[in-house]
Amino acid sequence: MAGEAQADCLFCKIIAGEVPATVVRETDTTYAFRDINPQAPTHILVIPKVHYRDAATLAAVEPQITADLLREAGEVAADEKLESYRLVFNTGSGAGQTVFHAHAHILGGRGMQWPPG
Ligand code: AMP
Ligand code: ZN
Repeated sequence: MAGEAQADCLFCKIIAGEVPATVVRETDTTYAFRDINPQAPTHILVIPKVHYRDAATLAAVEPQITADLLREAGEVAADEKLESYRLVFNTGSGAGQTVFHAHAHILGGRGMQWPPG
């Protein structure tokens, strides 16, 4: 069934509590936890509890949950007192996606370059 947890998915395991994570916020539809390999002073991942391979696929099937995810990213940034932050959805291995469960990176607490590398 669409959106079902995948046995081989790291983020589905984090949601299930099978892999530990430093959770910062949770809602009915989303989970936010600190990235294990932070690329900025604040680096938090916000993920939907349903499994889709990337953000665009999530948006096509679950527009309401996609809106929840974006709103929740803003709530996390506010909790972390980030005035500016970058919200990143790496999509596809060529763009650096390594976990194929949709997720937003919230990066903040330092200056950012443009264009990104
Ligand atoms: P991406 O490369 O965009 O797919 O992002 C995956 C992110 O997951 C990377 O930034 C990793 O550092 C992060 N990550 C991998 N394993 C864990 C874990 N067990 N807990 C928290 N973050 C993780
Ligand atoms: Zn998953």
